[in-house]
Amino acid sequence: MFTRNRELIDEIAALSADEREYLYAALTLHGHACGGMPMGFVGGLAALRALGIERERNMDTVAIVHAGRGHAAGCFVDGVQFATGCTFGKGVMQRAPKGKWSFELIHKPSGRAVRVRIRNAILDRAFAAPFITDYRKKGVRPTDIPAQVAHPGFKRLFGLDAEEVVKIEGPYERHLPKPKPCFERVVCSVCGASVAENYARREEGAAVCVDCTHYAS
Ligand SMILES: [Zn+2]
Ligand SMILES: [Zn+2]
Repeated sequence: MFTRNRELIDEIAALSADEREYLYAALTLHGHACGGMPMGFVGGLAALRALGIERERNMDTVAIVHAGRGHAAGCFVDGVQFATGCTFGKGVMQRAPKGKWSFELIHKPSGRAVRVRIRNAILDRAFAAPFITDYRKKGVRPTDIPAQVAHPGFKRLFGLDAEEVVKIEGPYERHLPKPKPCFERVVCSVCGASVAENYARREEGAAVCVDCTHYAS
């Protein structure tokens, strides 16, 4: 799988060495070649450039994606996640489901943000591609779609200027609260599960997890 992914990406000329490395890893994370993930990847890189910031390695930048679940090209979220480094596990990738192919990228230290939208012309083409019309709509899983159908859609966006792929609003001012991280852990007195202290409840002096509490959460 790694070799096949690398071969596909090595066919794309318009990538810097760093972008190529990231794209190898993004495709490994995503699992299949489609037209959706690259939209978010290209959009994510464009958002970083517009804000003048590097890929997020800590927790300073937050992405709020507007894609919902159960609709075409929702895969673009993985591209955003990977290109920006705003990952789910770091708590800096949020979903505000609106069924839209857009996202907001917020740099907390500077209080600046951009809103990024995949252009309709790009979505028109993706929705009319055989990948969707001949395969996905008929229930074929992405990994079962022939490479000659899936690969051109995956590669296409990288030959375009970012401005042709996305529309960017901003930068504008946007401030998000900075919650203090919790480094304490307690053990639930009922089930024995470890719980981050800021999520634990107290009942009659004992720590209780949200699954064991007698009160509605
Ligand atoms: Zn996909
Ligand atoms: Zn418990």
